[in-house]
Amino acid sequence: MQEQISTSPSRGLHIITWGCQMNVYDSARMADVLRPLGYSPVDLPDNADMIILNTCHIRERAAEKVFSELGRLRQIREARKLEGKETLIAVAGCVAQAEGKELLARAPYVDLVLGPQTYHRLPEMVARIARAGGSVIDTDFPVESKFDLLPEEAAPQNEGNLTAFLTIQEGCDKFCSFCVVPYTRGAETSRPVASILAEAERLVASGVKEITLLGQNVNAFHGDWNGGTASLPELAALLHEKIPALKRLRYITSHPRDMEQALIDAHRSNPIFMPYLHLPVQSGSDKVLKAMNRGHTADEYREIIRRLREARPDIALTSDFIVGHPGETDEDFEATMQLVRDIRFASAYSFKYSQRPGTPAAGQPFQVAENVKEKRLAALQALLREQQDAFNASLVGTVQDVLVTGHGRKPGQLNGRSPYLQPVHFEGSPSLIGEIVKVRITAPFTNSLGGHLHEQESTAI
Ligand code: SAM
Ligand code: SF4
Repeated sequence: MQEQISTSPSRGLHIITWGCQMNVYDSARMADVLRPLGYSPVDLPDNADMIILNTCHIRERAAEKVFSELGRLRQIREARKLEGKETLIAVAGCVAQAEGKELLARAPYVDLVLGPQTYHRLPEMVARIARAGGSVIDTDFPVESKFDLLPEEAAPQNEGNLTAFLTIQEGCDKFCSFCVVPYTRGAETSRPVASILAEAERLVASGVKEITLLGQNVNAFHGDWNGGTASLPELAALLHEKIPALKRLRYITSHPRDMEQALIDAHRSNPIFMPYLHLPVQSGSDKVLKAMNRGHTADEYREIIRRLREARPDIALTSDFIVGHPGETDEDFEATMQLVRDIRFASAYSFKYSQRPGTPAAGQPFQVAENVKEKRLAALQALLREQQDAFNASLVGTVQDVLVTGHGRKPGQLNGRSPYLQPVHFEGSPSLIGEIVKVRITAPFTNSLGGHLHEQESTAI
């Protein structure tokens, strides 16, 4: 995924974002931090006085992608120099955190290198460069929390400012064998509840109806509250109670180990929780799950799903899978296929295992051959695609609550979001934008649904 933040200029800022929703959130917050210095987002790097690459290190060739983009940005900087304009180039995010020093050695023209925990210090870094020139690298895990020091902006929002992300938890202490997150994002920390409530209130006051709470292990959340701590279901209850205009709540990404009964029960009792959960399982083989250090078995995962479906029978499930973890045999892969057949997912992400330097799995013997990984991934994706198609088809004829987020591509068409996070297209008046309306689903597409307004149908009868 690559996203670009943009509007119109004063001192131009262009941010290119790779990776997860948390990076999208971080990019918006970097824009907030730089706004008091006169920076506003611009569409093209050619018009930018500062360009930030916000990078992702989760899978292969991350650093190579960054270097190739930096080559392009260097040319832009040279062209701007001929016009007498300066351009600051910054690399942020997880590649910066993991490979900051190497990055500066290979691309000395980069002005700023900063990790995910230090972007609140951006103004200070920019000032240091203005004073002394040279490059600045800051990939500390600072004692101060960036959340205490960020300006009070409500960010980021999308889909006509009706939906928004809100980071509540960061970092990870789980150390899965394959994953760089504990090394790039640091130890697990939760944001205090009061600061989350304040940001959610600002978002909702600006028109947001649906919030997605973000965290690398969002369901391990335990934020300070009232002299103790609040868990994720307690935070969700507070959001529901204190912000009545907040209509919908989601959270991503959860770990099966932290899927406690209180959270499962909240899917039954808290009406703002959407019937949708992304719960990565990675593999269906107990042997591979153990080698991955996931801390649960395939049957324990099945049991969590059984309890979730008991609490909320219409819940749609999505997941992440890795094929070809070191030591994975045909039999292990078949166990993954069986788990997928047993559970039936509404959609899922699946990846070939990628060796990440410095992680335990990278040094293990019995790496799986590339062609075997490819074959397994194709088989898994075909099965997951079948299940996604079946799930979308199962909604035909049902009436769904759709949050109307904006105009569709065709004249007279509106776009919305189903409870299951699918885009829905239907005809209706633009005055419905921002409302939650009933839509009868008539057509399943691969990644979206078509329908028509239920009210219209009732008046026609
Ligand atoms: N915290 C989440 C969890 O525990 O499942 C996952 C966060 S990770 C940023 C997102 C996904 O990237 C993982 O669920 C995993 O499927 C995938 N991933 C992470 N490291 C990987 C690797 N080395 N190779 C392939 N996929 C990887
Ligand atoms: Fe990475 Fe998620 Fe495992 Fe943490 S729990 S190490 S973020 S895959």
